Order: sequence, then C-alpha cells, then structure tokens
Amino acid sequence: MKKKIYYIQPTYQTSDGKLLKGDSMYVHSLAMPALSAATPPDWEKKVVLQYFDDIDYETDASVIAITSMGYDIAQGMEIAREFKSRNKIVIFGGYQAHFSSHLLTDVCDSIVHGNPGPKDMKKILTDAENNQLQREYHCGIDINFPFDYSVLSDKKITFMPVLSSIGCINDCDFCCTAAVYKSNFRLRKIEYVIEDLKSISRISKKAGFVDNNIYNNREYLLKLLKAMIDNDINLKWGAQITVDIGDDLEALRLLYKAGCRLLFIGMETLSQQNLSGVNKKYMVQSYSQRLQNIDQSGIKVAGYFMFGLDNDTTETPQMLYDFISSVKISIPILNILIPVPGTRIYQRLKQEHRILFDEEQELLKNNSFYNSACNTCFFIPKLMTAEQTERGFLELYGKLATYSQIMKRSLSFNPVMMAFLLGMNIVFRREYLSMKRMHKML
Ligand code: SF4
Repeated sequence: MKKKIYYIQPTYQTSDGKLLKGDSMYVHSLAMPALSAATPPDWEKKVVLQYFDDIDYETDASVIAITSMGYDIAQGMEIAREFKSRNKIVIFGGYQAHFSSHLLTDVCDSIVHGNPGPKDMKKILTDAENNQLQREYHCGIDINFPFDYSVLSDKKITFMPVLSSIGCINDCDFCCTAAVYKSNFRLRKIEYVIEDLKSISRISKKAGFVDNNIYNNREYLLKLLKAMIDNDINLKWGAQITVDIGDDLEALRLLYKAGCRLLFIGMETLSQQNLSGVNKKYMVQSYSQRLQNIDQSGIKVAGYFMFGLDNDTTETPQMLYDFISSVKISIPILNILIPVPGTRIYQRLKQEHRILFDEEQELLKNNSFYNSACNTCFFIPKLMTAEQTERGFLELYGKLATYSQIMKRSLSFNPVMMAFLLGMNIVFRREYLSMKRMHKML
C-alpha cells in the first residue's frame, strides 16, 4: 500500500445544487492545519480545500480523509461515494460526521470522532496499512502540538485561524458546541498558541481565534494575552467571547493591547424569557452597558441575534432593530433559529412535533448561501407562523441594510477599521438583496 493520505475539506452545495467556490474567504476552519501537522512523518500527504481547489479523483493516495464542519457533509458524502467506487479507503471526521455518523454508514470505512493528534493519526493510519481499520475511532481532544500553516499559506484568507481552546463553559440548548462538549472545555498550551501566531505572522497580518469562547477561563486568557504582548505578536485579530467580558475592564485593556479589534458576541435575543428558555445564563438588561464598555476599550463588536425563539412575536423584529441601531454593534449577525440535529433544541422541537423537515439531509442540504444568514424557518414557532417568521426576519434585515445604517455602524476613527467594517456591512446588504430576490422567486 502506498503510504499517502489525501485530505479533503469539502465546500458547500447551495440549494440549487451548485458548488460554492471562490478565491478568498474571511476565515477558514483549522481542521487541515491540525490534521496535516498530526500526520506521521513517514506518510506522504496532500491537502485540498475544495472551496479554492478542485479534487483530484485520480490521486494515487490510498487513504482519503474527509472532514465535515456542518452543511458541507452533503458534498462530503458525494465525494466519499466517488472515492469508494474507486476502491479507496475513505475516512470521515469533523463535527458533522460526529452528529450524523448514522448517515455515513455506506459511504466510508471509518469515522473519527474528536480531535485526533499525532498519536491518534499514527494509530489510524497503521490500522489502515494493516487492513485493520476500525469502524469508529473516539480520539478525545488533542490540540497540544503546533499546527501546519503551510497548507493555508497560498490561500487568500482574511483572518488566519488560530486556536487556544476547544469547547465552552456554557451549555446553550441551540449550540452544537454545547451538544458535543457539554459545558466542558480544553485549553491549549500557551507555547503552541504563540508558535502558531508566529507562523501566521509570517503569512498574514490578521488572525481570527476560532475558539467557541476565548473567555472560558479568565486566568488563562490573561496569561495568553500577556504572552502575546511579550512576544511582540504584531497581528490584528478577532475572537468569539461571551458578553460578560464587558464587565472585565482589565481583560479588555489587555485584549486591545494584544491586538484584538473585533469581538463576536452571541446576545441572541432581547427577551430574558427567551434567553433563560434556551439555557443561556446572561442578563439581557446588562447588554447596553457591557457593549459600551467594550466600545470604550477600542474594540468593535459583531453581535449574533436569532429570531423565532418561543417568546418571539411579530413585534420582535422592530425591538431588535431599535436595539441594534442604538447600541455599539458594528456588525449584526442575524439568523432564524436553526434546530440543528444533535442539539437539545432540536430534540425538544421534535418531541413537540414542531420540526418541519423529515430527514436530516433536508436541513443539511437546504442552506441557501455559505456562511450567510439562515432565512428559512425549519420549525413551527410558538407565537407566529413559519411564514411570519421569515417575513419578519427579512424586514428586520432590510431595515438594518440601508446605507444610513451601514454608515452609522461602520464609523471609526481608524480608517483601516472603517474600511473593514464598511466591507462587512456591504456584504450584509448584499446578503439582504439576495435573500429578497430568493423570497420573491418562491
Ligand atoms: S456561550 Fe456560545 S459557544 Fe458557549 S454554549 Fe452558548 S452558544 Fe455555544
């Protein structure tokens, strides 16, 4: 057997069956740098990110490894079938493969759960070589080794991905992270994070922490930020964090000093009843002051909100508009609630007979655009119809996509930041126009 592995990160299929391809992306998953670094040195490896490059179905690799982070599993399954028909050994991994492993029975030889490190990859590939591949591998989480950024170095990625932790201390009902890690998280050794940041500095000026929540452990975060400052990491970066960071003025000061310029914060809703109903433990009434503190530290906020929760009504879009347009949110990120199979909210809605799709594949295939707002209501909301939810969502998006709102949100004393925010908000407007066109077509 030729000791060669072909790693594939599939792209997304849009609802009209086309493959989403392009030559630039805001941020990319870290799966490939991690897998490439974990591959035993005596194995030849080739990595393909299908969004950027085409798959070579004639590859001479013996093992094909496909990783799926979400909706891309539909395309990943087609790729797997094609390689199986060519008698290749096919291995599947990634978040969605974990959630939807029952869909993969016929398309692959083995499913890898968790985050495999060098030891796990050695075991899996030795088994493959000896024709002893197991049906499933449960690897746990190994993130304590430096990742191989050479696999991303020739790609146009605005924020090069970096990782300091996996999992989240919280346990929100709608969240895939919570479904997998169940309030647990794992911290990466700071020396590896710094090593990765140094690798990124050689190929980019911007980074994006892909942690689910960089504020899982305050002490660790402060140590990491100090290490970044001491090591002169000259990158501007963003990260996902919980809203309580707004009370921590010391951490905000260090975040700014270490190069953080944008924080992604899930506020989700303005109804405390909604927030408690999905087991998110924060107080809505604290949002305004916390956002103001973050703004005063010099850091901009991208705020996630969702529509369609049980306490939402047709009045909710106006309330969301009033709030978002009056507080310090530079980039709104809006979605209709997505009941992702595997999450607690999916289970609950299913038990209540409120899920509007029969097969998981339907949800996985029906994303309209990669990385863009979910504007389809896949369930029956409590106080509205699914149609009212979609219409209200589109109206909210439209109100926030006017040029005056875009200008207001993008204002910054820093011209580079202002250009960046303008770009992001113009993408927001384009998304709105695409959604509007699509809804008219339906
Ligand atoms: S705080 Fe964010 S990452 Fe953590 S469980 Fe809730 S939604 Fe998921």
